[in-house]
This record gives sequence, C-alpha cells and structure tokens, in this order.
Amino acid sequence: MKPPTKTDNRKPITDYTPTEIFVDNTVKTHKNTKRIINNLPNLPVTYINDPHEIKIPEKHTEAKKKLLISPLKGELLKVCQGQGEVCCQYHTIDLITNCHLECSYCILQDYLQNNPIITIHPNVDEICDAIRNKVRENPGKKFRIGAGELSDSLALDHITEFTTECVALANELKDIVFEFKTKTTNIDNLLKLKHQGNVVVAWSVNPQPYIDIEELKCASLADRLIAARKCADKGYPIAFHFDPLLYYPDWQEQYNNVISQISDLFKPDDIAWVSLGSLRFTPGLKKISMDRFPKSKIMTGEIFPMTDGKMRYFRPIREEMYRHLIGQLTNNIGKIPHYLCMETPLVWERLFGNIPTLDEVEERVAQRFIP
Ligand code: SF4
Repeated sequence: MKPPTKTDNRKPITDYTPTEIFVDNTVKTHKNTKRIINNLPNLPVTYINDPHEIKIPEKHTEAKKKLLISPLKGELLKVCQGQGEVCCQYHTIDLITNCHLECSYCILQDYLQNNPIITIHPNVDEICDAIRNKVRENPGKKFRIGAGELSDSLALDHITEFTTECVALANELKDIVFEFKTKTTNIDNLLKLKHQGNVVVAWSVNPQPYIDIEELKCASLADRLIAARKCADKGYPIAFHFDPLLYYPDWQEQYNNVISQISDLFKPDDIAWVSLGSLRFTPGLKKISMDRFPKSKIMTGEIFPMTDGKMRYFRPIREEMYRHLIGQLTNNIGKIPHYLCMETPLVWERLFGNIPTLDEVEERVAQRFIP
C-alpha cells in the first residue's frame, strides 16, 4: 500500500444545509424543533406521524441531504462498550444520529444502512434528566459523558445549538465531565458559553495527507488545532483522539509531524487526555466503504477479524503504533493522561504492564477531574 501523497486545498465543508426537513409530529411544538427549523430558513418542512416511513434503507449520499427531527427513545444514557474486559466506563448520549462529514472508515455507514437519514433528537431535556437521575443514584461518583458516538458532536451545532444545553448541564452537575468530540471547527457557540472546567472539547486527529483521502468533509488538521487552541484559551480542557490510527508506510513520520504540530500549540496542562485506537471496522463496512471511497486503500493489508467481530491490524502492528505514539507524545509534549480505545486486555498488559480494573482505567483517564 502506497502512502497517500495527494494534498489539496479544498476548504473544509463543516457547514451543512439539507434540502428538506421532516418533523415527527410528536415534537412539532418542542422548542428545539422550532429553533432548528428557524436556523434552516426557506427549506420545505413536512410533518409526519410515523418516522419509520422515511427511516428506510437508502444510499447514504442521498439520505444525508435530508434531515429528520424525531425524539430519541429507549435507553437515553448508555455505557460505551470496550473490548474484552478493559473499558473506560465512558457514558454516551445520542443527540444526533448519522453525520454528513464523510470519513471513509465511518462505521455508521454499516450500522445505519437501514436508516441513514440524518436524525436530530430534540428531546435533550429528557436526555439531561436521564443523566441527572444517574448522578443522583450514584452520589460521589464521577461520570464522563460524551455526545460523539453516532455523530460528530459539533458538526451541526450551528443548527442545533445543543452545546448550550449540554454546557448548562455540566455547570449544574459537578460530578460529570462532558466531552464534545469533533473533526470540525464549529466552535462559535462554545466560545460564547460560560463553563466551569468540566467540559472537554476533543479533536480526532490524523496526518493531513490521510485526512485528504480518508476524512473528506472534515476540517484540515491545522484548522482543527487552531480551533482547539481557541477553546483552550477560553479555559476548556482539550483532548486529542488519535483514532483511527492508519497504518500507511510513512505512518511514523506522519504521526510525528502531527504530534510536533500539537506540541507547538499546547502544554500538558491544556490537555485532559489523549486516546489511541487503531483502525477497526465491521466486515460489512469494507464493501460499502470501497464503493463510496474508491481512493481509500485502508481496508486492505494485514487486517484480521477479532473476537468482537471487527477487523483490526495484526496485534504487533497495533502495539508498535501505540508504543511509538506514546513515546513521541511524552517526549514532545510531556506527561499526558492517555488510554487505549477498544483494545484487548493483552494489548493493555503488553503496553502498560498490567490489566487495569475499570476504576483504574477511569482514574488513569480522568485524573485531573478526580479530587
Ligand atoms: S466525523 Fe465521525 S461520525 Fe462523522 S463521518 Fe467521520 S467518523 Fe463518521
């Protein structure tokens, strides 16, 4: 596999304007529904009784041009599923389902192939109540909660303005640490909000030549880092996710370069945590991705199925990448809390010398927030 060499000067497309909006009648009068429609003037709006009529299998590219506003139902606060017995006990909420940013490796292309329409869930009040209940039932326990599992946390914030409600909740509940995870520069709302230091703004990062090929509508690396610096200047703790790490032949040089750019702009105190995770994907994603992103080459090579059903690089490759990046981060930036995402107990043990308990993982990650 040759390393990507293409570097184009495209502008990051972090803005999104759908061609039409569908509204579930059950949230027709919800204040968030009205705000979202106001933020997208002059678009046709269709009110529907049954969202399942339009949550149907459809080509992703077409489905992402439409927007559905419909409440999130079922489990409103979930625990992120790790790999094997090692997990960081991260909790997730879904404010939006699906994403217009078009990463070749995005697992949502497979997970959501039966209902790919971008869906905004306006019932943030109910989701916040679920978090309040969880905190009330577990006095003294810290919860890290993120909004970036089924979408990019900030990609549509200029339309939803959900950051306002999430930051207000973090101001109210001192026992939560709320994380927004993004590949955009959509931070205008965040910069205006008052927070109390328990809101982490995180960027997923990759080398620019890989972004050019694999993260088509995301902001450039340089723009992500500038946005991160602006948030740090407003007192937000910053996080970086080296995820997914991509094993191109020039990966060492390319990731060294990313770390060098981060070290030019950030001190260890600015950074709450760094995560490392290697490329992983479901067998079903390979064909979808290769059809939609013919220039991408990341799903070929030394990739094997694992017990959780996902494909990953051969273990020695993953370990080599983690070791190298941790060394570079420590040497160039300093001591920063770091953890592995969706890795096996064996890899944790080989990297860090032991298999941590769930509480030890949490202490390792969120140490600056634990008194
Ligand atoms: S930013 Fe995240 S959610 Fe959006 S397409 Fe890329 S991987 Fe998927």
